[in-house]
Amino acid sequence: MKSRGWEVVERVKAGDTLVFDGGYGTMLFAAGLLNGACPELWNDTHADVVAGIHKGYFDAGSDIVETNTFGGARLKLNEYALGDRTRELNVEGARLARKVAPARGFVAGSIGPTSRLPQDYALDAGVTDEEYEETFREQAAALAEGGVDLFAVETMMFPQEATAAIRACKAVTDLPVMATMFFQFEDLHDRDRTMWGESPAEVAKNLLAAGADVVGMNCGRGPDRAIVIIREMRQVTDAPLVAYPNAGLPITTGDTVTYELGPEAMAREYPALLDAGCNIVGACCGSNAEHIRLIAEVVRRRSAPGARG
Ligand SMILES: [Zn+2]
Repeated sequence: MKSRGWEVVERVKAGDTLVFDGGYGTMLFAAGLLNGACPELWNDTHADVVAGIHKGYFDAGSDIVETNTFGGARLKLNEYALGDRTRELNVEGARLARKVAPARGFVAGSIGPTSRLPQDYALDAGVTDEEYEETFREQAAALAEGGVDLFAVETMMFPQEATAAIRACKAVTDLPVMATMFFQFEDLHDRDRTMWGESPAEVAKNLLAAGADVVGMNCGRGPDRAIVIIREMRQVTDAPLVAYPNAGLPITTGDTVTYELGPEAMAREYPALLDAGCNIVGACCGSNAEHIRLIAEVVRRRSAPGARG
């Protein structure tokens, strides 16, 4: 029997639009996470805070929330000398989201970059494709053990790392994989490219070829660029597409970082994002439950019987 996470893929293929969640960093910092501390450790030490953020997103209208395991690969946890707790912190991260998920809700296991450069780019030995795959297999297996429905391979910068993560998820489970990359807007050329120089169309094709079931963009800039990126991806594939951009650009004043788009300003862009062909929408850095509540309203309004378009 297919695992329940496949409903996500089946529903968007049938024409549903689903709502993903918003940012975690801002809320963890607001709750006292210190700069330079390991956010995944909070799955153990501050479980109620993490579970509360998940619940806030489900209550705001998220169909899918992601686990607090973005930096949960052993290669990344090693930075905090926490590599030995890889399995525990990922299992616990999955259980926290699962515990507060309503019956209709889905939990996506977040898998972010290791912050270690691929072999071809690193000044040191770098990380081989096999080493990437090994670290992500360990993380994906722990997330599955904790009960995730699908995976969110996200904020990826390098194609080697992104495709290794997708292959790793597929090697250890039969769960669907969403995979998204980080794009930079190149003002000078009026185009969006990954750090590696890939176009949105190339990214969509590469991630699908590696086995991803849903592809798209996250983080980067605001919804204005997400609309363009999704439109370009839609031109080359009929596969489900996902976008969860930042709440615009960060604004740094002294020690504090805020983002340019409040909930209303952000949600205003989402009808165009849906028109571009996006099937799953959420938000990334700088967003909170109020952003998601208004984005969910846009989605429900469009899905209502008799609604146009
Ligand atoms: Zn982000």
